[in-house]
Amino acid sequence: MTTSHYIAGHWVEGQGSDCISVNDPAQGQPFAELMAASVTQVDQAVAAARNALPAWKSTSASERAAFLRGFAEQLGQRREALVTLQMRNNGKPRHEAEIDLDDAIATFGYYAELAEQLPSKNRTVPLAAPGFTARTRLEPVGVVGLIVPWNFPLVTSAWKLAPALAAGCTVLLKPSEVTPLIEQAYGQIADALGLPAGVLNIVNGKAETGAALSNHNGLDKLSFTGSNSVGSQVMRSASAQCRPVTLELGGKSAIVVFEDCDVDQAVEWIVAGISWNAGQMCSATSRLLVQDGIANALLPRLQAALANLRVGNPLTEEVDMGPLTSQAQWLKVASYFATAREEGLQCLAGGHALDREGWFVSPTLYTDVPKDSRLWTEEIFGPVLCARRFTTEEQAIAEANDSRFGLVATVCSADLERAERVADALEVGHVWINSVQAVFVETSWGGTKGSGIGRELGPWGLSAYQSVKHVTRCVG
Ligand code: NAD
Repeated sequence: MTTSHYIAGHWVEGQGSDCISVNDPAQGQPFAELMAASVTQVDQAVAAARNALPAWKSTSASERAAFLRGFAEQLGQRREALVTLQMRNNGKPRHEAEIDLDDAIATFGYYAELAEQLPSKNRTVPLAAPGFTARTRLEPVGVVGLIVPWNFPLVTSAWKLAPALAAGCTVLLKPSEVTPLIEQAYGQIADALGLPAGVLNIVNGKAETGAALSNHNGLDKLSFTGSNSVGSQVMRSASAQCRPVTLELGGKSAIVVFEDCDVDQAVEWIVAGISWNAGQMCSATSRLLVQDGIANALLPRLQAALANLRVGNPLTEEVDMGPLTSQAQWLKVASYFATAREEGLQCLAGGHALDREGWFVSPTLYTDVPKDSRLWTEEIFGPVLCARRFTTEEQAIAEANDSRFGLVATVCSADLERAERVADALEVGHVWINSVQAVFVETSWGGTKGSGIGRELGPWGLSAYQSVKHVTRCVG
């Protein structure tokens, strides 16, 4: 790849010093290379977004909606190429790559609708005091930097891009260096639709490029999805400039299974919550809390279900789970297997890397994991499930909430009143009852505690790119 950065409406070569290898994780081999953007190119992209802002924010909401619908349509036209690229570069099974694409399409469609409703939100505010009128104006925040990770590249970018463009912001998107090709589709679509130059800019690169963007004084806001360690650096940069920031960070989410559940159904939910995307989900339900009365029946079936998952190369085999996306992630997960051995954890399934080419690990289950184990408290980001038993509802809630993270949770119970009560008590941003990982564009996404600041999706996702202004007039 030579021209892999989209700046001011042009595809340009990277002038940075980092060479980025794009890998096929099922083979552990690179299939493309590109040069990162330089700091100067980040400056150029910020300047392009700044130049484009006055005209873009003056477009009518319906014009912006038409562009967003165009993105949705053009993503659909690129279906096979984008699905295959996600399978090849992320290691996603086909059906998961399809879901990601459909999610991105739905996101652009949804924010097109919200954009069309924007004029009706600028309305008069009734005042109790006489002699004044006031009206609300929702304005775009301005030039926004969007930094995203590699696990759901099309989706995390769409969740930021679509509302930012709908609000009238101009953007700089920095994809992950692990998956730098997939989001190029957004630049190609911008070209195809004739999106004005500079409204969308895409710069690729590693930490240096990300830091150049998050430290840049030409941004009005930064929205970041990624790890807590980088998130805290991004927050420091935002703090130095007193600038708003949205952070979508990690998780260590609980799945709570009560004893009135159908065992096979519960096993299906538990497996999906830890094996989709090979467990590389911020929302993976990686802490299983299982009630005493069902634990002895459930754990052997869970053990068998994990052992029976078909793990392999999604491009050449029918698989339930692909490889981990990067070698770094594979080494990280392997280091947790080593920690589990050192801690003497009881392993019911997996617990090792697979002896084959590529970055594969086996779906893993540890039981009766102590509360202070690193495997119970830290985000592993792989198909590694840790289980503990509980007796009472209060105990389940307390254990689920005993985490520095607060992204999501799943509650499985036939008693819906109880499930709703537990959902209300959980300190997280999203709870699924008797379902797993179901994300709809109309509901919010984001976490409490260490899982981040702010919300994406739904109307909240649009508000994240809007600034509220009131105009108050004395009428005598
Ligand atoms: P990461 O933090 O390593 O990287 C994320 C992005 O930040 C990448 O584009 C990277 O190049 C960039 N970056 C790296 N160093 C930077 C710096 N110093 N300044 C600015 N940018 C920098 O995360 P990752 O490994 O790509 O993704 C995995 C993490 O993302 C997990 O912790 C996961 O839970 C989290 N995640 C959260 C959500 C959510 O919605 N809460 C969604 C997906 C992933």
